[in-house]
Amino acid sequence: MVDDQNCLFCKIIKKEIPAEIVYEDNSTLAFLDINPRNPGHVLVIPKNHYGDIFEINDSELRELIVSVKRLAVASKDGMKADGVSISQSNGAAAGQVISHLHFHVIPRFESEGPQGLEAILPTKKMTNEMLSEVKSAIMGSLQNGPPSGESEAPARKKEEDPFGF
Ligand SMILES: [Zn+2]
Repeated sequence: MVDDQNCLFCKIIKKEIPAEIVYEDNSTLAFLDINPRNPGHVLVIPKNHYGDIFEINDSELRELIVSVKRLAVASKDGMKADGVSISQSNGAAAGQVISHLHFHVIPRFESEGPQGLEAILPTKKMTNEMLSEVKSAIMGSLQNGPPSGESEAPARKKEEDPFGF
């Protein structure tokens, strides 16, 4: 296992720190979030230490997302929830706090609203020209990147938000 000595989640994987582990297989682990947004809020992580989605290889990511689905089904059933929100943040700008790739699986209930997690970000008004620029930027990046995502990710340019949002 690839681990990081200072990583909280790696310590949970190594059982150095206790956690309410609900699922474990060869490459993934799932445990209850200690600050649950709802009962049944589970974190699903790869056992190898990857800081974020940009670092993990495709094959381990496939195994991880299959575990996320298993936990989504189990948590929804177990909590008799009406729906499930799945979220995953990369980088401080996105609100990532623990630098070990993780998916949040959060059971959701009709009585809550209902509101998607996306609702925390207000929608942005964009002109057709702006949408066209965004499309070009994303498609340009897709062409530059490795087709499978298995090889090294292209260096990310640190630029300011081009639209000033
Ligand atoms: Zn870690």
